Amino acid sequence: MRPEHFEEEHEMFRESVHRFFVNEVAPHREAWHAQCQVDREIYLKAGAQGLLCMYVDPAYGGAGVDDFRYEQILIEENQRHGDPGFFIHLHSRLVAPYITTLGTEEQKQRFMPGCVRGETILGIAMTEAGAGSDLAGMKCRAEDRGDHFLLNGQKTYISNGIIGDLFVVAARTDPQSPRAIGLFLVERGMPGFERGRRLKKMGLESQDTAELYFENVRVPKANVLGDPTQGFYYLMRFLAEERLLGACSYVANAQAAFDITLDFIRERRMFGQTVADFQVNRFKMADMRTEIDISQVFVDSCVRQHNQGKLTADMAARAKLFTSEMEGRVMDECVQLHGGAGYMDEYPISRMYRNARISRIYAGTSEIMREIIARSIGLDPRKGGAGRKGG
Ligand SMILES: Cc1cc2nc3c(=O)[nH]c(=O)nc-3n(C[C@H](O)[C@H](O)[C@H](O)COP(=O)(O)OP(=O)(O)OC[C@H]3O[C@@H](n4cnc5c(N)ncnc54)[C@H](O)[C@@H]3O)c2cc1C
Repeated sequence: MRPEHFEEEHEMFRESVHRFFVNEVAPHREAWHAQCQVDREIYLKAGAQGLLCMYVDPAYGGAGVDDFRYEQILIEENQRHGDPGFFIHLHSRLVAPYITTLGTEEQKQRFMPGCVRGETILGIAMTEAGAGSDLAGMKCRAEDRGDHFLLNGQKTYISNGIIGDLFVVAARTDPQSPRAIGLFLVERGMPGFERGRRLKKMGLESQDTAELYFENVRVPKANVLGDPTQGFYYLMRFLAEERLLGACSYVANAQAAFDITLDFIRERRMFGQTVADFQVNRFKMADMRTEIDISQVFVDSCVRQHNQGKLTADMAARAKLFTSEMEGRVMDECVQLHGGAGYMDEYPISRMYRNARISRIYAGTSEIMREIIARSIGLDPRKGGAGRKGG
């Protein structure tokens, strides 16, 4: 399977990860959807199997395996056989790197072993009601009070918002400068830190997306990540990896939808033949096969670039843009090929379709991806006119 990209040890890892999702995640899927949250135990089980924060240095409890292909396998198997609302990648590769990269030795010692074991579940809180695509509109503020920062404000749409124990929270640290943002480690139980509603969503039912409230939360200086004025740049830096994680999952989702649709149209008969026998449908499947294959090759290449430290923000944006749009087209076509069954809850394609709608919105919308890509080819009105030549 994709021999140009994976080696034998990756395939062995895939087999054990596959068993983990089939045995430990899939049987709980319906219960988790009903309770709108995964059980905490799944993080402990994933931790016990060494599946959390694999890249983390053994000094902090990790395995020190910094090959992104292992993470890609985890994502693919979770999307296909686990539950897409179990945000294992958000915990391990989206939030943990803030601590391992920006954190002090003391912070890494204090927090990382619990994250690797699955005892401390992570989340990141950037978005606010008035600040999503435009983070400079952030209102959450943190005031320097000597030995601590006083945090006030609220966040919304935060993944792992209810189950999470430790959040990287972005807040303004200088009222005069919208780009002066700090990143703060806010822990469960800190006085003034409250969870709001668990938000009802179109899909990803088992993901506990929530609002977070901060009222005079005293965040000790020991919980500040890096320079408290450079958070904006830190966020931009880590978003490239977040977009690559997304791209890996969108291709896996499209592949899963394709597989179940292929089975369905081979079985379903009408007008004396199967749905798959109509040329129009064979051609639809051929188009989807082509789009998924091309996306996979591109994403695999981005993963290898990332392993070499060469993946640029605009390349990650292209991967996210193309794969999420492709996933949307594939899901829509697959529902169509199911006919009325595609609209029924009992058919997996219905849920997959709903889950996929968010891919074009979170981790930066398709419009923001196009903005990043356009700027990367010199079309940047901020630099004296979109039509002018230069980077
Ligand atoms: C299920 C879910 C989970 C999430 N998890 C998290 C999380 O864990 N942590 C977190 O911080 N956030 C999270 N988010 C927030 C998510 O990242 C934002 O919703 C997303 O970035 C879009 O921001 P917004 O919702 O404010 O939309 P807006 O920014 O208000 O966008 C509205 C529309 O305007 C368009 N638009 C904006 N700017 C431009 C532009 N320059 N040019 C053209 N069009 C533009 C957008 O593309 C969009 O179509 C999550 C969201 C969801 C739905």
